[in-house]
Amino acid sequence: MLLPSGYVEAGDVETLRAIVDAANEISGDDVALPLYLSTSWLRPEHEQFLLAVIALSSHPVLVSFGSSTNPLDSKRKLAIYRRLVTGSGAFSWRTDLAGLDALAHGALGTAIGTGPGLRRFTPPKDKGKARRPDDPTPYVLNPGHMHWMKTGAMREELYVGAPAPTCGCRECGGQRIDRFTESQAAAASRHNHAIIDEYAQSLLSAAPSERPSLWRSMAQDALVAHEATSAVVGRPWNAPNDVSTFAGD
Ligand SMILES: [Zn+2]
Repeated sequence: MLLPSGYVEAGDVETLRAIVDAANEISGDDVALPLYLSTSWLRPEHEQFLLAVIALSSHPVLVSFGSSTNPLDSKRKLAIYRRLVTGSGAFSWRTDLAGLDALAHGALGTAIGTGPGLRRFTPPKDKGKARRPDDPTPYVLNPGHMHWMKTGAMREELYVGAPAPTCGCRECGGQRIDRFTESQAAAASRHNHAIIDEYAQSLLSAAPSERPSLWRSMAQDALVAHEATSAVVGRPWNAPNDVSTFAGD
């Protein structure tokens, strides 16, 4: 059972402590406490408090940082996030591919949704920023690139002069990745799940001490894949900021 808990603005230590205290009043070994936090909590001055408040919880804590775009797109935030999820034994929750980063660095576990609404949450006052809200096609994770893109945008902006690559995942079976139409969101989700699962299985099959460097090299491969794709399609295509961050150190 997931306990209800509201969004907590950075620095609102009273509210955060009250949420954990209230959850501790509830007994049961099938209870987890999700914490929906502003990314502005990911600053050095908040780190010790967050570690301490998570440690106070008698239930497993699912930590999620909200953003209207990507919550963990800077090296500084990611470094604090890593220390937080590994130091507290928390579960990385709805924080996009950073969940795999957390898993590589020793998090208890991770849950990564397969569409934008599940991959991360948007703070209540913000609006989710879809780059092209008029494009109803599903978001698809481009294999080898760690890059989410709507298939409509793939067809119109990326794979214009060259065909989209095929995908060998269990859903696609060698078909092209830009084929998913508006009515095939479920199939696109299965593809996304298969790709994320491949990353997770690769990480989990390595020894824990080797996972951070393995994850870094997977992210570096994704950067190289962007360069290769840019050359093929004849236009620059940048890797997402978080992937550059994963590949960084
Ligand atoms: Zn696929």
